[in-house]
Amino acid sequence: MPDAIDRTPHPEPAPGQYPLDEGTADGAVARVLLERMTDGVFVAQEGRFVFANAAMLRMLGHGPAGLIGCDVTSVIAPACLDIWDARCRQYDSSRPEPGNRCELSLLRSDGSHELPVELNTHPIVFAGNAGVLGIVRDISRRRRAERALRDSELRFRGTFEQAAVGIAMVDVDGRWLRVNRKLCDILDYAARELRQLTTRDVTHPDDRQAEREYMQRMLDGHIVSCAFEKRYIRKSGPVLWARLSLSMMRTPDGRPSHVIAVIEDIHERRMAQKALADSELRYRLLTHNLHAGIIICAPDARIVYGNPEASRLLHVDSTQMINRTMAQLGCDVFDESGAPLTEHDDVVRRVLESGRVVADLLIGIRVAHGKAPAWLLVHAYPEFDTAHQLRQIVVMLVDVTDRRRLEVELEANRHVKATALDATTAHIAVLDSNGIVVESNASWQAYARRGGYGKDPSFGGVNYLDALDRVAGDDMPRAQAAREGILSVMRGHAPLFQMDYACHAPMERQWFSLKVTPMDPQRERVLVSHENITRSKLAEEAMFALANTDALTGLSSRRHFFEKADDEFARAQRYATPLAVLMADLDHFKSVNDKHGHAGGDVVLRSFAEVLSGLLRDSDIAGRIGGEEFAVLLPHTTLDGARAFAERVMDGVAANPPDVGGGKVAPYTLSIGVSALSPACKDFPALLRLADDALYRAKRRGRNRLETHPRTTAPGEPPP
Ligand code: GH3
Ligand code: MG
Ligand code: MG
Repeated sequence: MPDAIDRTPHPEPAPGQYPLDEGTADGAVARVLLERMTDGVFVAQEGRFVFANAAMLRMLGHGPAGLIGCDVTSVIAPACLDIWDARCRQYDSSRPEPGNRCELSLLRSDGSHELPVELNTHPIVFAGNAGVLGIVRDISRRRRAERALRDSELRFRGTFEQAAVGIAMVDVDGRWLRVNRKLCDILDYAARELRQLTTRDVTHPDDRQAEREYMQRMLDGHIVSCAFEKRYIRKSGPVLWARLSLSMMRTPDGRPSHVIAVIEDIHERRMAQKALADSELRYRLLTHNLHAGIIICAPDARIVYGNPEASRLLHVDSTQMINRTMAQLGCDVFDESGAPLTEHDDVVRRVLESGRVVADLLIGIRVAHGKAPAWLLVHAYPEFDTAHQLRQIVVMLVDVTDRRRLEVELEANRHVKATALDATTAHIAVLDSNGIVVESNASWQAYARRGGYGKDPSFGGVNYLDALDRVAGDDMPRAQAAREGILSVMRGHAPLFQMDYACHAPMERQWFSLKVTPMDPQRERVLVSHENITRSKLAEEAMFALANTDALTGLSSRRHFFEKADDEFARAQRYATPLAVLMADLDHFKSVNDKHGHAGGDVVLRSFAEVLSGLLRDSDIAGRIGGEEFAVLLPHTTLDGARAFAERVMDGVAANPPDVGGGKVAPYTLSIGVSALSPACKDFPALLRLADDALYRAKRRGRNRLETHPRTTAPGEPPP
C-alpha cells in the first residue's frame, strides 16, 4: 500500500545533519553499526520518521530517503495499528515505561506482502525533541518455521490419530505413553486404561519372552528397529494376531528415550493362512491315505508326488517315482485285449498332448511273471492355475481287479443262465416294472416267429401288458386274467401267479401254463413263462377218467358217483329242486356166472350198462357201486319220474338180452328200488338207504320188479 504512505514534504536531515557526531569515536562506531546491522532502526517524532537505517529501508523496499517524513502509521499493517497506537499513547502519558517489545506487521512499499517484525521501542530525545527509537527485526523466517512446525505437528497428530494401524509411544519399561484410536480398537481398551498398563500385560504369555528379547537388543543398541508377529489378548479375552514394528528413539546424547510401536491387526490374515494350511494338510492327508493311487506330474511329465496306494499298485517305491515319467517306471502294462501299452500310450503324455481328461481307461499290470495281472481304472486330468497355465497333471489309479473278476464271473453266469433259458422248452420272457420285455429265450422267440408276432420275435422293448390289453375275441378274458396276474406279482400283491389255459388249434388240443415269478425283492423284474402242458394235461385227463370211471362198464366209479351225488344232493336242497335216486341189482347173478362163466357175467354187466347209458339224460349220473349193483342219480326228477325211468330200464333189459358168445344169449332180470328227496333225508346216504330199502323189498317180493319209497303202485297194480 505505498499510496497510503503520507508523502507530505518533511524537512529531510541533510547528510551533515546526520544525528551522530562522527567526530567522536562513539559516533563513528554507531554510524558503522547502524549501517551494517541487519535489524532495522528508526527514530520517529510526532508520529513521523526522522531517521531510518539501511536495513530498515531494505526491509520496507524504500530508497535512501524514502521514509523520512512519512507517517509511521503508513507502514504499519492496518490490523496492527492498535498495537502501535497503544504504544505511542503509553509514551505520551509519561507513565512508567511499558514492556518495550511487541510483534506486528509492516507494509512494504511495493505492496507485495506484509512483513512480520519484532519491534523494540524506546523513548528517545533527539535533537531536543522527544521521540521513539524503534528497532525492527524481520521475523518472517521464524514465523515460517513456526508455521511449518505447527503444520507438521498437526499432520503428525492427524496421522497418529487417523492411522489405519495402531501406533503407540512406549517407554523403555514398556509402559504405554501415548496410543492412537486404532490401537484402542485393536486391543479393545480405552486409551486411559491402556496407559495404566504395560505392553507385557496385554501380550499373550507365549509371546512375552520373544518381545522382551527384541526390546533388549534395541536397548543394547544392536538393532534400531524390528518387526515380528505376536499375539495380544484383548480386554474382552480373545487372542488377536498382530504384526508389531518397533523403533527405538534416543535422546540427542544417545540415551534410549522411548519406542515407537506400530501394531497391525493381521488376525484375519493369520486365520485365513491357518485355514489354508489346515485345508492343505487335510488335502495331503486325504491324498496320502486315499484308497486310490494318486500320481502328480509336473508339466514336463515328471512325477512330483505319488501316494502310498500308487506305489502299492505300481510296485514302485514312492521315492523312486520322483523325477521319472510314468513310462520310465518300467511297469509291464497292457490294454484290455492284452496288447502291451507303449510309451506312446502313456496317459500323462495323452493329457499333455490333448490338454483334456483321459477318463476310465482300463489297463492291466503284471508285477511278476506268471502271476495274475492287476486291473487298474485310470483317470488323468490337467490342472490349471488361475492364469490358465498348466500346473500339473493328476493321475488317479483305482484297483478294479476284484470288480473285473466279478464282471467276468457275472458274464459267465449270464451265459450259463442264457444257455439254460434257451434250453428250456417253456417260452420265457423277463419284464421290467413297466411290463416291457427286456429279455426272452429262444423258445419264446421261436413261438413268436411261428405266430408272426411283429418284426422282432424277441419282443424286445414291447410292452407285454399293453399287448395283452389289445387281445380281442374269445381270447380276451384269458388275456385279461393273465394281465391281472402279472400286475398282481409286479405290485407285490401276490408272491407268484399261475394260470393254466387251453389254446386249442382246429386239429389239435393244446394247453399252456402261465407262470409269473418275481426275480428280485423289489420286483423290478418279473419272469413270465408259458409252458406247453398239453401232454401232462392229457395224461391228467386220462388219470382223471381212470379214477372216476368203472373200467368194466364205463359208468362212474363208486367213489366218483358218491362225490357227484353229494354235490347234486346239496344243490337240490339249496334250490329246493326234486331229486331221485335209483338202485338196481341183477337177480341171481351168481347163477349167471355159474352158467356162462365169469367172462359171460362181465358181458351181461357191460350189456346192462349200455342199456342204462342209452336212457340217461345229460344231467343224470349212473355209477357201478358194487359187483352187480348200480345206482342212478336223477336230478330234477320226482318219484314218479324216477319210477317211469326205472320201468324204461326194465323194459330195455328185457328187450336186449346180451350175447355171451358161442351163439348163446343170456337173458337176465333185475330188481330196482327208487326213492325221492324228502325233508326227512339229511344227506345223500340217507336218500340212498331209502332206495336200498325199496330194492330189498323188491328182492323179497320175488325179484324182477320195482319198488319205491315211499311206496307207490304201478298203474293197474293193487295198492301196497
Ligand atoms: P340176488 O338175486 O339175491 O341178488 O342173488 P345174487 O346171486 O345176484 O346175489 P349175490 O350178492 O349173492 O351174488 C352176487 C354175485 O355177483 C357174486 C359174484 O360172484 C358176482 N359178481 C360180482 N362182481 C362180478 C363181476 O365183476 N363179474 C362177474 N362175472 N361176476 C361178478
Ligand atoms: Mg347183489
Ligand atoms: Mg344180485
